[in-house]
Amino acid sequence: MSNLTLVAPLAGWSTPLEESPDEVFAGRMLGDGLAIDPTGTTLFAPCDGELVAIPATKHAVTLRAAQGIEILLHVGIDTVGLGGEGFELHVREGQHVRAGERLLSFDLDLLAKRATSLLTPILVVEGSGFSITRRNLDREVKVGDFLMELSAAPASARPAGKGGDASAQLSRRVSVALEHGIHARPAALLAGVLKGLSAQVSLVAHGREASAHSTTSLMTLGVKKDDEVEIRASGPDAAAALAAVETALRTEKGTSTAARKAPPATPNDKVGTSSANLSTTPKAGLPSAAVTAKDAGLLRGVIASRGLAVGYTLQLTRPEICVLEEGGGVSHESAEFDRARSLVGTRLQAVAGSGPEATREIIGAHLELLDDPELVRGARAAIAAGKSAGYAWRQAIRATVDALRALDDSRMAERVDDLLDLEAQVLGVLNGNGGVPLARELPGKTILVAKDLLPSQLVALDTSRLAGICLSAGGPTSHVAILAAAMGVPVLVAMGPDLLSLTDGTAVVLDAEKGLLRVDPDRGQLAVAESELDRRRERRAADQAAAQRDCRTADGTRIEVYANVGSATEAEAAVRNGAEGCGLLRTEFLFLERQSPPDEEEQATQYQRIATALGGRPLTLRTLDIGGDKPIPYLPLPHEDNPALGLRGVRTSLWRPDLLRVQLRAALSIRPAEQARVLLPMITDPAEIRTVRGMLDEERRAIGRSAPIELGVMIETPAAAVMSDRIAAEADFLSIGTNDLTQYTLAMDRGHPELAARLDALHPAVLRLIARTAGAAISHGRRVAVCGGLASDPAAAPILIGLGVHELSMVPSVIPQLKALIGGMTLDACRELAHQALELETAEAVRALASSATTPPLNAPATPALEVSR
Ligand code: PEP
Ligand code: MG
Repeated sequence: MSNLTLVAPLAGWSTPLEESPDEVFAGRMLGDGLAIDPTGTTLFAPCDGELVAIPATKHAVTLRAAQGIEILLHVGIDTVGLGGEGFELHVREGQHVRAGERLLSFDLDLLAKRATSLLTPILVVEGSGFSITRRNLDREVKVGDFLMELSAAPASARPAGKGGDASAQLSRRVSVALEHGIHARPAALLAGVLKGLSAQVSLVAHGREASAHSTTSLMTLGVKKDDEVEIRASGPDAAAALAAVETALRTEKGTSTAARKAPPATPNDKVGTSSANLSTTPKAGLPSAAVTAKDAGLLRGVIASRGLAVGYTLQLTRPEICVLEEGGGVSHESAEFDRARSLVGTRLQAVAGSGPEATREIIGAHLELLDDPELVRGARAAIAAGKSAGYAWRQAIRATVDALRALDDSRMAERVDDLLDLEAQVLGVLNGNGGVPLARELPGKTILVAKDLLPSQLVALDTSRLAGICLSAGGPTSHVAILAAAMGVPVLVAMGPDLLSLTDGTAVVLDAEKGLLRVDPDRGQLAVAESELDRRRERRAADQAAAQRDCRTADGTRIEVYANVGSATEAEAAVRNGAEGCGLLRTEFLFLERQSPPDEEEQATQYQRIATALGGRPLTLRTLDIGGDKPIPYLPLPHEDNPALGLRGVRTSLWRPDLLRVQLRAALSIRPAEQARVLLPMITDPAEIRTVRGMLDEERRAIGRSAPIELGVMIETPAAAVMSDRIAAEADFLSIGTNDLTQYTLAMDRGHPELAARLDALHPAVLRLIARTAGAAISHGRRVAVCGGLASDPAAAPILIGLGVHELSMVPSVIPQLKALIGGMTLDACRELAHQALELETAEAVRALASSATTPPLNAPATPALEVSR
C-alpha cells in the first residue's frame, strides 16, 4: 500500500491544527493532521483498522490502520477532565472497524460548556515512512467526505506521525511532595492514575529512568520527598498523563497515612484507629536501630503500634521455599504462572474485601505489584528461556529486591517485605501448599518474635491469641506495623539481633508505650504490669457496658455523642460503641483511589447502606470535600500554588455543580427521608449556603419530595467563625471542623511535620472562635457540634461543653471512654474551665489547665483501642 485515505469522521468545519488552543496539538507534538470544529455529535472511523487505545474517559480513540499507521481522534480539548461524562462508546478496544463505522457519541452542549474547546484533532500519531500529502482544509465537511491522504514518504521526508521525533515527547521537572517519597503505595497510585490513559510515561531521577506504569521500577528510583524528577510522556494523552502524574507527585497524599500528620494529642479520626495507633518515626538524632538498654533483661525498640501486653515469646522464621530452576516446558510453566498469580490475586481481594481500611490499602498495593508489568515481563522472559515459573518469579522479585536494598533508604527497604511476601505467596501456590506461607495456631498470650514479618503472615495468624509483636528488624511505617495497629496489637520494631536469642516461652512484658520489652520479669514487675492491664481492661469494659446510655454530665445536662464514619462497617461499630448517629460522613472517601466519580446510583447505594447500619439514627452527609490535601486524579483542578487556600470543599462543588447535584440527589434518596442531613464543608460566607439550598430545593422538587432536608455548614475557616451569626441565620445547624479551623487560624499547614506538635486545636485563638460560633448558634436557636479531631480529645471535652457545644462527633472507638468522662463532670465546672482557658495564652497552658482540673489526668492521648490485654 502506498497511499491511505482518511474520510471525515465527524461533521463540522475542518481547520488547521494551529487553530487548536493547546500547544501540544497546535505544535504537532503528538503528530500531524488537522482539526474539525464539530457540528455533529457522533465520531465515525476515518478508515478501516483496529482500535488500539480507548481511555477509560472515552474522549479519544486510537485506530491502527494498514502499515501500522495510527490515527488519534481526540474529541475536544481538555476533555479528559470530564472523566467520561458526556461520552458514549459504541465500540471496544481491540475491535476491528470499517471506515464510516460509528465509534462514539458525545453531548455537544455539555462539551461546549465544560471543555476548553470543541476542536477535535485528527492526528497521525504513528506513521513512520508516511506523510500527509493532501488535506481538506478550511471548509465544511460531512461524515465520509475526503479528509486527508497519506503517501509513502521519500526516505528523507519527515514522518507524518510522531515516529522517532523527539518533540513528540513531553517532559516536565517537578519537585516531589509525597511525604515518604515514591514507595509502594504512591508508586501504585501513580501507576493507577495512568491506567485510563494510553500515553507511555516514565520518570527520571538520580540519573535513572523508570516506567511510571511499573510500581517496582518506580520504587527502585529511590525518590524521596523534595527530590526533583523529570516526567516524560509520549503518545496519545501525553499531555493529560503528564498533568495527572504531576498532580500526583505534587500532592502530599501519596499514602493515606494522614494520621502521621495529626497533632499528637488529638486523634485524627479521618484515618480511623489504625493509623492513629502508629507511632511517628524516631526523632532526628535518635538511632533507628535498636539500642540495648543498660538494664539487663530490658530490650528497647521503636514503637510501631502502641499498647501494653504481657505474654510469652514465640519465634517465627520465614520459611525459604525451594524451587526447581528448570521448567517443564514454556506453555506449562506459563499456565502455572498465570494460575498462581490469579489465585493469589483472588485471595488478596477476598482479604481486602473483609478487612479494615488499612488492610484494604495495603492489599491494594500488593495487587498492583502482582500485576506489575516489569515483574511480570521479567518472569515471562525467564520462563521463555526455559526456567520454571517459581524460579522465574523469584528471580524477577529478587532483582527488584536487590535494587531496593541497594538504596540508602530505610522506607524503601521496608517495601522489600511486600515483594518477598508476594514471592512467598505465589511460590506457595506453585508448590501446592495453598499460598499462605505461614498459618499457625498460636498458644494464648503470644508475643510474636521475628526478624521481620510478612503482612500475609500476620493476616494468617489467629490474632485473638496474639498479645504483641517484637521484630528485630522492620520499621515503624512498614505494612505489618499498619496492619497490627489496625488490629490493636502493640508492636516494637528495630529491636536488634539480641531479640532473636530469646527462647520460645520466655515470659515478657511488652510496653509499647515506652518502647521497652522486659524479659523474664520478676514477680513484682509482672504483678505491676498485670494489675495495670486489669485496670485498663476493667475501665474499658465498664465504659463499654455503659456506652449505650444517654450521655449526661453529672448534673444532668444532655450531651449528644455522634461518630465520624467512612463506611457501613464503621457505622455498625459506632452504634455498638454507643453513637447516637453519624455527625460526619466524609463522602470524599468514596471518590478517592478510583478512575471516575461514583454515579448517583452507586452513591445512593453506599449512603443507604450506612444509613441502614445506623438503624435510623441521624446521618450527617458532608458533601464532597476535595482539593487541598484530598485531591482526586480524575478531577484535575487548575494548578494552585497553595491548594489549601484554593478550590476546596464547597468551592470545588460550586465550580463543578454537576458533581454536587448528583450527590444531593443521592442524599435525597436516603430512606427514611428524615434520617439524612446535608453538611457543607469550607463555607466562608452565607451566599454559598443560599446557592446550595437553591440547588437542593430544585432537586427535591424534581423528585416530588415536599419535606425539606436539613442543611448544615461546617465552621472551619476563621471567616465562617467570625461570620457565624450571619451563617447561623442561613443554616439549619453548625458543625465546627477544628482540624481546618486550627490550620487556618494558626496559619500552620495541618500536614506540616515540623509544626505538628504546635498545631494544637486547644490554642486559645481557636477556642475563642469556637466560643463565638457556639454563642451565635445558641442565639439563633441552632444546634452546634464539633466534628473535628478535638471532639475525640478527652482533654478538650469539658472545655467544649463549657463553651456551649453540646454535640460532639468523634472517632467511634473513643465514644465509651468519653461518655464515661463526661458523666463525671458538672456543667458549672466545665464552664469555669472554659472561661479560664479562654484567658490563657498558649495551647500548652490550656492542656496543663485541663490536666490539673481532672483526675486521672486528661492529657494522655486517647488510645483505648491499643490497650491490649490478653
Ligand atoms: C475538620 O476540618 O475539622 C473536619 C472535620 O474536616 P476534615 O478533617 O475532613 O477536613
Ligand atoms: Mg475540614
